[in-house]
Amino acid sequence: MDHMASSSQSSTSIATRPARAWAAQGPTTPLAPLSITRREALADDVVIDILFCGVCHSDLHTVRNEWHHTVYPAIPGHEIVGRVLRVGKAVTKFKEGDLVGVGCMVDACLTCDPCRRGLEQYCEQGNTQTYQGDDIHLGGKTHGGYSDSVTVREAFVLKLSDGVDLAATAPLLCAGITTYSPLRHWKVGPGMRVGIVGLGGLGHMGVKFARAFGAHVVLFTTSPSKVEDGLRLGAHEVVVSSDADEMAKRTGTFNFILDAVSAQHDINQYISLLRLDGTLTLVGAPEHPLPVAAFPLLLARRSFAGSGIGGIQETQEMLDFCAEHNIVSDIELIRIDQINEAYERMLKSDVRYRFVIDMSSLKG
Ligand code: NAP
Ligand code: ZN
Repeated sequence: MDHMASSSQSSTSIATRPARAWAAQGPTTPLAPLSITRREALADDVVIDILFCGVCHSDLHTVRNEWHHTVYPAIPGHEIVGRVLRVGKAVTKFKEGDLVGVGCMVDACLTCDPCRRGLEQYCEQGNTQTYQGDDIHLGGKTHGGYSDSVTVREAFVLKLSDGVDLAATAPLLCAGITTYSPLRHWKVGPGMRVGIVGLGGLGHMGVKFARAFGAHVVLFTTSPSKVEDGLRLGAHEVVVSSDADEMAKRTGTFNFILDAVSAQHDINQYISLLRLDGTLTLVGAPEHPLPVAAFPLLLARRSFAGSGIGGIQETQEMLDFCAEHNIVSDIELIRIDQINEAYERMLKSDVRYRFVIDMSSLKG
């Protein structure tokens, strides 16, 4: 087997090479540099030189063990944009030099019913997450994009269109697809009143997509300072959610609401805004359960739903849609050594509207 010939072999006999990364060693320690190993390309692998990586609130939930299953060292990052360094001998879709993206998943069984329907995120065996997944090749956990390189199975690598703004495209790989997918699934379009809750990384992409799909878009925010931005990003109306009168005025008026909030909040307040048969879909993943009251749901046959990222085919469709419609994320570019400060700002809802790490700051 040609891929086994290497000077630096792991215990599993797969060839590896060193990589640089930033990792958390525990829930309360700041991220710091760490040397790791990545596998060399197996037959169907693509080795990627990482140029930019977006900073998702899921990275912060993970690093601080807010979902209670983090294994340390934890290396987050699942909004990866980079250039192909090498490909395995069976790879057909990519070649050296191609610009590519990687999102939240790096593997799935590809044979179960959801996988065959292009819904690898709902793989019956469980998909392998880009970070904190089980690394079937090297053992331990997978390591994400806060790193100079990554090796990913071809089927989970996305193509980027020529000429796109690479840094501002990185957040599409998670924030983009996580909002695009439910808006498509619930058929958001002209004639619909759509609410987006929370103007963070996901929320600001939700506003852009809902507007691009032709809906009447209302943003709900806790931050009065974001009202102007909400309108600029595409919302027709912005409601500051602490304004009880403005909230009450909209009771029973929405076909669909997407909730992209990262922390505890009153979900029933938003369920009441739905009309008959309306749906509120949660994409935010706060640490603790959100209590849902019975009456707002049953009085108007409302639905409370959830949605996780999106499949590979739909992610490619979303990237192509964005390239065609000039949609990117609004970003603040940071160096890797600003990541801990960026987390503190994200916790204060002070991000406009996605931090993206310029990975040249790691390589220098
Ligand atoms: P983010 O950039 O930090 O945005 C979260 C926004 O929620 C904030 O900007 C703020 O918006 C609002 N918010 C924060 N604290 C709040 C509170 N206590 N009460 C009410 N609103 C509050 O986070 P993100 O990266 O967009 O991620 C959002 C959530 O989605 C996270 O929990 C993340 O883990 C989850 N996520 C889920 C998936 C999935 O597959 N479903 C994928 C990616 C991320 P305002 O200032 O406008 O109020
Ligand atoms: Zn994410």
